[in-house]
Amino acid sequence: MQSLAIGLVEQSPGWEQLLSQEGLYWKKCDLSKPVSVKQFAVIVVNRKLSEKEQDNLDVFGSTGGEVLHSVETEKKIVSEKIGRKGFRAAGKCLPEQVSKVDKGTVRKEVAKELRRLLAKRRLPYVQKWFFPKKNVLSFHLDVDNDDVDAVQRVLESTKEARLKPTWFVNGKACKEKPVIVSLLEHHNQIIGSHGWEHSVHKLTAQNSASIRKSIDFLKKNGVKSVKGYSSPDGHWNTGLEKAMESNKIDYAVCFAKSFLDLPFEINKTMILGSYPICVGIMKTRDFSERKMKQFFKEAIDNCLDAEIPCLLYGHPSKRMERYPKIINFIADYGRKKGLDIVSLEEYTAWWRKRSGKNFQAFVDKGNLVVKTGNNDSDFKLRVVSDGKQRLMPLKSARVRLKGSSWKKFSEKKTKFTCKGFTRPGVRHIGKRLAGRILGK
Ligand SMILES: [Zn+2]
Repeated sequence: MQSLAIGLVEQSPGWEQLLSQEGLYWKKCDLSKPVSVKQFAVIVVNRKLSEKEQDNLDVFGSTGGEVLHSVETEKKIVSEKIGRKGFRAAGKCLPEQVSKVDKGTVRKEVAKELRRLLAKRRLPYVQKWFFPKKNVLSFHLDVDNDDVDAVQRVLESTKEARLKPTWFVNGKACKEKPVIVSLLEHHNQIIGSHGWEHSVHKLTAQNSASIRKSIDFLKKNGVKSVKGYSSPDGHWNTGLEKAMESNKIDYAVCFAKSFLDLPFEINKTMILGSYPICVGIMKTRDFSERKMKQFFKEAIDNCLDAEIPCLLYGHPSKRMERYPKIINFIADYGRKKGLDIVSLEEYTAWWRKRSGKNFQAFVDKGNLVVKTGNNDSDFKLRVVSDGKQRLMPLKSARVRLKGSSWKKFSEKKTKFTCKGFTRPGVRHIGKRLAGRILGK
């Protein structure tokens, strides 16, 4: 039997994250001993090799094995550099501070290369699928300087749309309006922390104090459990990373660490790479309601094409409260496209379970052989073979690598980012000036 294991020469956080996101069957590959082509489908060389290791790799390569050389990938995946990027939105290019490296794209390029190498050996690409069904849609709200009426209005709209929003509340901004918290709790909403101060500090202790204080504030106002965190302005640093761990944050949204990507875990916190564009930034570029709808339609279509969860967000006051039709549109269009509407909490729990599901895969006489202890039908494998693909249950099986249930596999090119930001709109600047003069 030919093993489909991907061999990784050096275990490293970035590569482990990438392979686990892709949901591949992989093992550490020890090149200090001879390695046969039956043992590994592809070997990933992610560090300099010794002479002996190189000799063994040469034998693997000359007997039909394929090798992916990539020393740079690790640095890109774990990069903590932050920068302003442009995101396409209804023909415009909107700026947001995010991770300088587009890690989702790095992952996809590696996956594409692995598929190419496997295809050279006429072997399939077998991975754990990313969703319980087709894809998922989730919406969250950051509650900063918002008023109670705005929160109430958005709450009603999200209920009508049957969204499952998560409300991340900033403590300091809401300390005089704790009724916001009790209102949300009364309506059984999922409530998370958006920090006490609206900033991310350098030191762990300061970040930790800010998170703890915000959680205490939420609990004092009736919130039973606080699992999630949305970082102020999406910022991120190692001081925050440690603070989240010590405060047992279950899942977090922070563009500076990850955007538009599959989830991954840091320590015990699941990082959700959401869409960085919201109605707020669209308003600064004079978007009409029709243009905003166009953005959300494209966002959902793009997430489907890119095979990433569609995690959208907004703010209540002066923003989402003014667009109940858009809230409805997001939910309706998502449903129409076959996405499951989930809360961030639900998707995190599902993804965590997925991480715990192991399998081994082999090819034997034109059949795919899967070995796994899983029987839960919420988890699937996606198999790409010979330009075709198929979803199948993640369970022990022996299946033909051809047949009528196989559909065409085509990698859709999704361009989320753009260059050359669209400047703030005339109407927006006028309103701001007028507001300043009138002291509003
Ligand atoms: Zn905020």
